[in-house]
This record gives sequence, structure tokens and C-alpha cells, in this order.
Amino acid sequence: MKSRTPKTSTLALLLGVAFMDIMDGLFIVLGADRVTPDLASGPYLFFDLTFIDWDHSLCMGVLLSLLWGALFLRNPATSCLAALAVFSHFLADWPVHNHDLALYPYSEQHMGLGLWGSLGTGAWVLEGLFAALLVAFAWRRARLAHISLLRPALLLLVLFVVMSPWLSPMLVIARLPEPWAHLAHGTTVALGFLVPGFILVRMIDRDQTRASA
Ligand SMILES: [Zn+2]
Repeated sequence: MKSRTPKTSTLALLLGVAFMDIMDGLFIVLGADRVTPDLASGPYLFFDLTFIDWDHSLCMGVLLSLLWGALFLRNPATSCLAALAVFSHFLADWPVHNHDLALYPYSEQHMGLGLWGSLGTGAWVLEGLFAALLVAFAWRRARLAHISLLRPALLLLVLFVVMSPWLSPMLVIARLPEPWAHLAHGTTVALGFLVPGFILVRMIDRDQTRASA
């Protein structure tokens, strides 16, 4: 989205795609969402997402998208793209999540194709390939504008390796006693999106400014 519309605020898009998981981390820490350690649940999360309806249900996905988009209403185009960025997170979560995406809070119906559970490490590889394809697409377009995406791509590679089945911090966190397990899980999810998110925004904005100068 950023490479197709370079003038759109990087923060609106890159923190937009992270918004649902930042809220997820906060809600887990506050106790509104529930997660349960389960080392068999998937390639790198090692938790069952027992109740994440306040941020990862279809209904709340739409609401959070509108809420994030509303923050950028001063620029209608950015506002629409920011809302789409948030909702793209729900769409990208759907194939991998283990049937824990509710229709609305407390709904009986749940969605999610469950690739995390069924493919295990294969799901992590697939997510990496999907990200690599997007990077390649953005890279080609950025090169036309004389912008290098080398640093953001390297950061993504580091994140991908850190979130591997063998190095994921959740391997340690899932073995902690409660309440530390869910508190550390929520904090790690929120910070795991906020910190790299802000670093990526800064990297891309600086490279874009340098290229236009
Ligand atoms: Zn998510």
C-alpha cells in the first residue's frame, strides 16, 4: 500500500497493520482477552488464543479499522487507506489462526483456517514467503523512485528469524507460571508490534526524504 501510494503517511499504514495486535496485547494484559499456554498450538506463538474477541473478531476488526481511519480524517485518502491497512490484518490472520476469530464478541461462530495448527513450521515458512513477495513488490516500485528498501527488508528478516519456531520468545513465556505468562505474552505482543513498527516508519520516512532531496 505504501509503495503504491508513496505520499500516504507511513505511520498510518505501518502502525495500522499492527493496530489489532497492539490492542490484543493491551487487552490481554488488562484481562479482557484470555490466552492459554499450549506448546502444541503452532509454530511460534505457543499459546491458545482462548478469547480474543475484543480485537480479533470480524465485528471488532471492522470497528477498529474505522476507529484508526477516523484518526486521519483530515486527509480522506489517508483515512481510507489507514482503515484498509487495519482490516488487511484480519484478512491476513484468517488463514493461519486456529479457529479463534469470532464473528463478534462472545459469538459462538469462529473463523480461521488453522494453518498454524495443521502445518506448524510450514505455516511460519508460508508467512515468510508471503512477506518476501510483498517486499519484492515494494522493492521494485521503490527502486523506480530511487529509494532503497535494504534496511527495512533486513529488519523484517531479523524479525522473521526471531519469531521462528526455535527462537521465539514465546517458548520461554509459555513456560512461566500465571499471571506472568499472560502478562508477558500481552506485553511482548504489544511491544513486538510497536517497537519494530516505529523503527520501520522512521527508516522508510528517512529514506524517502533523502531520495526526494
Ligand atoms: Zn492478529
